[in-house]
Amino acid sequence: MELVIATKNKKKIEEIRRITSDMNIKILTPDDFPEFPDVIEDGLSFSENAAKKSLAAAKYTGKASLSDDSGLEVYALGGKPGVFSARFAGEGATDSENVKKLLDKMKDIDDKDRKARFVCCIALTTHDFKTYFFEGTVNGSIIREPRGVNGFGYDPVFVPEGKLKTFAEMSDLEKDAISHRGSALFKLREFLKAGIVK
Ligand code: IMP
Repeated sequence: MELVIATKNKKKIEEIRRITSDMNIKILTPDDFPEFPDVIEDGLSFSENAAKKSLAAAKYTGKASLSDDSGLEVYALGGKPGVFSARFAGEGATDSENVKKLLDKMKDIDDKDRKARFVCCIALTTHDFKTYFFEGTVNGSIIREPRGVNGFGYDPVFVPEGKLKTFAEMSDLEKDAISHRGSALFKLREFLKAGIVK
């Protein structure tokens, strides 16, 4: 089957490609289409944003489309940055600016209260515009200084529960095995294998 991945985030596309590589899926990306629609992510939840993106892509391409809306929730910050993770330090902020803002905001928070989780909501809109959701989370905590060079976003400051390394210090395979995106995609894989979507 063909599946459009409705994101321009190259790192997310790479992760999704990797995790679905053993399935019989031809992945298409916004680069395969002229003037792929840009969607304003103004939803209040990951699922709302994800559905907006996958529906817009399915309407534009006429093909089954998948989107990922994800982010980091820090308990001591009341769940922030949440849906604002990509633009925590402002519209167009870089990963390192977002990480710096997060560490600044958390500088007075004790080690025991630095718990956080990544959430990934994947929305799949079929060619006949039905939308299905697949969610994955991973618990962990936020350290005080970035470590590691792999991955993207907040990976250098996130240590998953029960691990010593940050996501940015792990190999792709190590991260995929426990990440929020890995577990959401695992659920999607099982769903696609059931053959409900052609
Ligand atoms: P989105 O493109 O609106 O879904 O924004 C997701 C943002 O959440 C990214 O720009 C990152 O800041 C953060 N994020 C989501 N998933 C990850 C991850 O796997 N590692 C690190 N940061 C992530």
